[in-house]
Amino acid sequence: MDLGLSGKVALVAAASRGLGRAVAEELAHEGAHLVICARGADALRETAAFIRAATGARVVEVVADLSSMPDIARVVERAHTEFGRVDVLVTNGGGPPAGPFEAHSAEAWAEAVRQNLVSVVELTRGVLPGMKERRWGRIINVTSIAVKQPVDNLILSNSVRAAVTGFARTLANEVAPFGITVNNVMPGYTRTQRVVELAERNAALKHTSADAERAVWESQIPMARLGEPAEFAAMVAFLASDRASYTTGASIPVDGGWIKALL
Ligand code: NAD
Repeated sequence: MDLGLSGKVALVAAASRGLGRAVAEELAHEGAHLVICARGADALRETAAFIRAATGARVVEVVADLSSMPDIARVVERAHTEFGRVDVLVTNGGGPPAGPFEAHSAEAWAEAVRQNLVSVVELTRGVLPGMKERRWGRIINVTSIAVKQPVDNLILSNSVRAAVTGFARTLANEVAPFGITVNNVMPGYTRTQRVVELAERNAALKHTSADAERAVWESQIPMARLGEPAEFAAMVAFLASDRASYTTGASIPVDGGWIKALL
């Protein structure tokens, strides 16, 4: 299937590793040029070099903290200086810390809102005028299965992802007449550094092992295994494509069947 992504410009946030990196790789393999950002300069440079070598794509990397509005403005500005436009925006960010309600201060809540909600709003604000002008755009937010079914011990993530979902669903209606789609992809348990760390943290709390914690997750997943970042990225690439022109306002799981709800 030709996804029609050749020559398009994609901005992928938080893309030095994990899901963001997998999405960046997939879009570049489909012929898109990239702007990627993350906080750590070394990992970002390595990722950009890897993708350039593997795909021949133009990849511009910008060191930026998604909790900072000036940094976000800088990422968008760089995309416009280098490419003159952004056709596809993939919002993503580090996951907020785990823990129950009592574990998180007011500042921790504010930080989760900044990193996982305000960044989505501000990245969108930066790219939307150009998309409207060209009457074509794709906005894809990385949220979580927690939107459909909250995950215990992740109260910050559960709360803030729901807000992103409300934002996206409303925006989808506003921008649909401009040929712009807005969708969310909800990863289930996917094999990234964050999930390795979550397994280790749970194991330390419960005096078990990371393998045992992973086995608990796998027992809740009909496919009985964690997802691979590339499986997640394939869904994002489809939603970014020309072929997905009539899908908007949706939240699509890539979770091996973890969400048990009908809708
Ligand atoms: P990860 O920790 O492996 O990668 C996160 C990426 O975000 C890295 O590139 C990191 O450098 C970057 N990053 C972190 N904080 C940043 C900041 N303030 N500014 C800029 N960049 C920043 O995580 P992942 O597993 O790839 O998850 C990505 C997102 O998806 C997270 O929000 C996570 O909570 C969510 N999610 C992941 C899973 C999963 O199973 N992997 C499941 C549900 C939701």
